[in-house]
Amino acid sequence: MQAFQYHKAPSLTAAAQALSKDPEAKPLSGGMTLLPTLKARLAAPTQLIDITGISELSGIFHQGATLSIGAATRHYQVASSDIVREAIPALADLAGQIGDPQVRNRGTLGGSVANNDPAADYPSAVLGLGATIVTNLRQIAAADFFLGMFATALEAGELIVRIDFPIPSKAAYAKFPHPASGYAMAGVFIAKTTAGIQVAVTGAGPGVFRWAEAEHALSQSFNPGVAATAALATDDLNADIHGTSEYRGQLVRVMAKRAIAQMST
Ligand SMILES: Cc1cc2nc3c(=O)[nH]c(=O)nc-3n(C[C@H](O)[C@H](O)[C@H](O)COP(=O)(O)OP(=O)(O)OC[C@H]3O[C@@H](n4cnc5c(N)ncnc54)[C@H](O)[C@@H]3O)c2cc1C
Repeated sequence: MQAFQYHKAPSLTAAAQALSKDPEAKPLSGGMTLLPTLKARLAAPTQLIDITGISELSGIFHQGATLSIGAATRHYQVASSDIVREAIPALADLAGQIGDPQVRNRGTLGGSVANNDPAADYPSAVLGLGATIVTNLRQIAAADFFLGMFATALEAGELIVRIDFPIPSKAAYAKFPHPASGYAMAGVFIAKTTAGIQVAVTGAGPGVFRWAEAEHALSQSFNPGVAATAALATDDLNADIHGTSEYRGQLVRVMAKRAIAQMST
């Protein structure tokens, strides 16, 4: 690990200023990804700006048709929140399936979404629900935020402040976890939203994506059989030592079937 300076930012303004003054500085949230990256010398920031104590980045609020969650909210807080469980139970279920208890006690919503690991769980909920990513500079629609493997629309030094989730009439998440890491080999988030039925897939491809053919078929007839019959291009799915692209395609179908079945009860 290279030497770096550590600063605990007292406010959002102070964090943004520190990051804008030094392009080699990085925000530190739960550290679950960033610290192993430093240890492996895959990144060498000059400064880590700890954003976990900033009040604007914390809290869970339900107002009207929106559930807002601060970026520094830890996974276990989302999983155990009565507000989340009442508004979007599928989101609480998803958070409870991330990694292990240690990861859930440190990792944060903002860190996960900013990192955009192709096998992370939250991006599927953010995209599937059509959430809005609120930063210190602007608001970004989920459809414009995820740009592929570990890539997002965030500019250097831009901070996620909170995520606004529109509350769906129903939603479910089903995941096939990698047995060693807990990351999704395939995860499918399905939501009945005011914009229609949305299906977002994580883990199986190089980045989170909407499964348009399943959305179309489910809007004609909402039944688990759609998961087996909707067209799914497997050529673009991941193939590695853990599974072929065809295997991942089959996992997507099975996870979709489980999510649809959950929503049908
Ligand atoms: C063993 C293990 C198992 C895991 N299993 C899973 C799993 O099953 N599913 C899953 O989804 N995830 C999993 N994770 C990832 C974990 O859930 C964390 O969410 C993720 O590592 C990043 O969140 P963090 O808060 O730790 O961010 P950090 O590691 O602190 O930061 C990650 C990146 O985001 C940037 N960043 C952080 N916060 C912000 C912000 N507010 N605005 C802008 N940029 C920001 C940082 O600068 C850094 O580049 C696992 C991690 C580990 C170590």
